[in-house]
Amino acid sequence: MKILIVEDEAKVGRFIERALTEHAYTARLVSRCAEARDALSESPFDAIVLDLGLPDGDGLDLLREWRKCGFNEPVLILSARDAVEDRVRGLNIGADDYLPKPFCVDELLARLRSLLRRHNTAPRATVLEHRGVRLDLLARIATCEERPVGLTSREFALLELFLQNPRRVLTRTMIAEKIWDASYDLETNLIDVYVRRLRQKLDRPEAEPFIKTVRGTGYQLS
Ligand code: CA
Repeated sequence: MKILIVEDEAKVGRFIERALTEHAYTARLVSRCAEARDALSESPFDAIVLDLGLPDGDGLDLLREWRKCGFNEPVLILSARDAVEDRVRGLNIGADDYLPKPFCVDELLARLRSLLRRHNTAPRATVLEHRGVRLDLLARIATCEERPVGLTSREFALLELFLQNPRRVLTRTMIAEKIWDASYDLETNLIDVYVRRLRQKLDRPEAEPFIKTVRGTGYQLS
C-alpha cells in the first residue's frame, strides 16, 4: 500500500512517514502543493494524508482538483483547523476522514486502515462503459458497439485501467506500474505499441480516437 503524505511541518511529516513505514506501508512525504501534484501525476497512491495549510497553497484546493480529475482513493485530512465548519467543508469537498491536530499516531493508523479496508471492499462496477466500448469484467468480454472485440489479457488490463479512470490523464509511469509492475523499462515504447493496438481495435473511421495522446505526459480517454 502506497501512501502520500502532504505535510509541510518537517517533524510531523517525518513522524508520520516513519510510523507508516514501520507498519509496512510505502510512504512518500512531500511538503508543498506543487510536489504533491507531481507525485500524484507520476505514480498511483492508495491513500493520501493531507495537511491543509501548505506554503504554496491550500490542501483543500488540491483535494478539489484531485476529485475533479477522478482520483477516487481515500483522503484523510490532518489539520490544525479543527472547527466543525472546517471539517464539514473538507468532507464536502471529498475527504473521507478528518483528524484534527494534535493527533495520536495510533488513531491516524487505525483510521487509515479502516478507510483502506472500506475502500477495497466497496462493491466495484463489473461492467465499464465509455463511448460505445463496453468491458464486462466478470465475463472478461469486450465489445464495441455491441460487436465483440478480441483482446489479449494485457490489452484487456490496459483498457480496464483507462475505463476505470475516464477523466484522468494516465502517465506512462502510472500505466507501467499498474500493468507491467515495477520491472518495466520506460525507455521502451511498449506502452505506445499497446495503445496503438487498442486504437486499431476500437477506433471507428470518422470518430475521434478512443484514446488520445496527451503530448509529453501520457494518454487519456477522449
Ligand atoms: Ca501545515
